[in-house]
Amino acid sequence: MMKARMAAVLLVLLAGGAWAAPEGAAGTDRGVFEVPELKRVEITDQFFAPRREALGRVTLMSQWAQLGKHHDVDNFRVAAGELTGAHQGMMFNDSDVYKWLEAASYVLAKHPDSPAAAPVAELTRLIPEAQMPDGYLDTYYRIFAPDHRWRELDLNHELYCSGHFIEAACARSETSGDRRLLAAAERLGDCIAAEFGPGKNEGVPGHEEVELALIRLYRVTGNPAYLDTAAFFIDRRGRDPHYKRELLRDVGGAAKVSQAARKLRALDPVKPDQERVDVGMIFKPSALLRAIADISSGRYFQMDRPLAEQTVAVGHSVRAMYFCTGAADLCLERDDPGLRSALTSIWDRTITRRTYVTGGMGSLPIIEGFGRDYELPNRAYSETCAAIASFFFSHRMLRLTGEAKYADQMERALDNAILSGISLDGTKYFYQNPLTAAGKTQRQDWYKVACCPPNIARLLASLERYLYGEGKDAWVHQYVSGTADLELAAGKVRLTVASGLPWAGTVKVRVAPERPARFVLRLRVPGWSGASRVRVVGDAQEYRPQPGTYLALDREWKPGDEVELVFDLAPRLLPSPPEVKEDRGKVAILAGPLVYCLEDRDNPGINVHRVELDPQAPLAAEYRGDLLGGLAVVKARARDGRELVAVPYYAWDNRGPSHMEVWIKEAK
Ligand SMILES: [Zn+2]
Repeated sequence: MMKARMAAVLLVLLAGGAWAAPEGAAGTDRGVFEVPELKRVEITDQFFAPRREALGRVTLMSQWAQLGKHHDVDNFRVAAGELTGAHQGMMFNDSDVYKWLEAASYVLAKHPDSPAAAPVAELTRLIPEAQMPDGYLDTYYRIFAPDHRWRELDLNHELYCSGHFIEAACARSETSGDRRLLAAAERLGDCIAAEFGPGKNEGVPGHEEVELALIRLYRVTGNPAYLDTAAFFIDRRGRDPHYKRELLRDVGGAAKVSQAARKLRALDPVKPDQERVDVGMIFKPSALLRAIADISSGRYFQMDRPLAEQTVAVGHSVRAMYFCTGAADLCLERDDPGLRSALTSIWDRTITRRTYVTGGMGSLPIIEGFGRDYELPNRAYSETCAAIASFFFSHRMLRLTGEAKYADQMERALDNAILSGISLDGTKYFYQNPLTAAGKTQRQDWYKVACCPPNIARLLASLERYLYGEGKDAWVHQYVSGTADLELAAGKVRLTVASGLPWAGTVKVRVAPERPARFVLRLRVPGWSGASRVRVVGDAQEYRPQPGTYLALDREWKPGDEVELVFDLAPRLLPSPPEVKEDRGKVAILAGPLVYCLEDRDNPGINVHRVELDPQAPLAAEYRGDLLGGLAVVKARARDGRELVAVPYYAWDNRGPSHMEVWIKEAK
């Protein structure tokens, strides 16, 4: 007995820490379903598999080359003392390396022979070398001003970068069992927990992300200090009565650090990179005034009031959505009715009034953020990262509630504003995702601020995490062909999904429990499907479920059972909300979850910005295997009878520059 206990203690120590509780062991309610491990889900889908194949074949290694070319990896070598010189690039570029590492970890879980293995091994060695002895990790501050660390929190990005490292380390540990990076993340988490909290450093990060990451670290390690620190950051935000004074102090501090940076960079033989593409924006004076108002009030940072008192997302969109994601994660761990109700309102109002039809977010380029309700200009900022962050927020709300509207929104963002962020060949990226273009907007190889490319890589590489739910019931949130080995209270079950989406409306879900078992299979009935039919093959009963719900099939399931779902994919016209000034009298073409757009190359001789669509003429979808990797175009009619051909928004700008419109004038 004694020996067994000693062996258990030894195992815990060998495993790398005193907190070795596995996921789910903290004794808290994690929402209405659990997320199955990535390795138990396979994706063979006609729509997503080619994108993920391009990710593994081209995207990952081309991104690694970009990170190398732009000194992002060398910044770690300088911080580790392995290379002389200075930090180059933006102060937050460490986070791009971490997001890439997270993406590579997911890919390696399925493809251990991927060429990404060597760079992942190098980063596993290098990153801990760049840490300070107490676990602090940030190459910009370590190189330029270690004595300024954790000081200019509003303006700089130490905690944001820390969060992305923690996420990458958790991903690597979860998918490979290699705990070396996780050990480094725990040292960093300990450093953050020692620094921040009531009566200690009471600052909060200028760019949220560390909150959700610390909760992820808590789930992996069981160490409650990480959850407490995340809770502190979330609760403290918006409660600083001296916000403006702190901000001014930060401006002074950050100026000193960048002065030190300039001096050191002047001595560095490495030339500052000139090749990155800037997002390039020209601002009107009125926009500048709004930005000043947003920043000085704290709205830009979601610091103008506590989250529990907010009713809609404000300020910088990526910041706001990561913040809400972290807060929803906190609700999954510690029930907080006030916070939960605020998150529900924020989600509802932000989605209905401050989100583009594509699921994109962010109307004001100058703050990369939210405008007023229904202020949705088509030149749209709509940063790829904001759509990705909103996808995470919706996923957490789905876990909290089990309501289908959240899964609908995940699908809308993914299939439109997120997939548009990367070219079909996996080599070029949009930072902004406008809903109109005049022949000049094109995806780029890389950006001066390159947050979006590795962010889309990590999402596509971990898509498995968002399709199913397990625990008490079996959930199918997204119909992506493949298999899932779910672990239910009633036993193990394999689901095999054969989905025609988004080109054909029939989906088959084969249910194979290890042995016959009674459980509830919850199948999402998308909000976009006006008329859906569901039946268990062999049963006489046919269900006609409401759109935007989960159909719960509670029965004794046995191997070989199959459910057939038929969704309505007929193309439809969506009138713009009358409150959106720029789109009054316009319609968008949708089919299933996809938003369509007109590109001029499919409509020769037609001005896509001015053409008037005849709303009475029927719409017809036509699958074209030869076009853009295979997709359905939608054909409509102009007022003068000419044919209009629309392509899915995600696929635009894959054939050279074009004029493009999502919202089309409706002929009266
Ligand atoms: Zn971004």
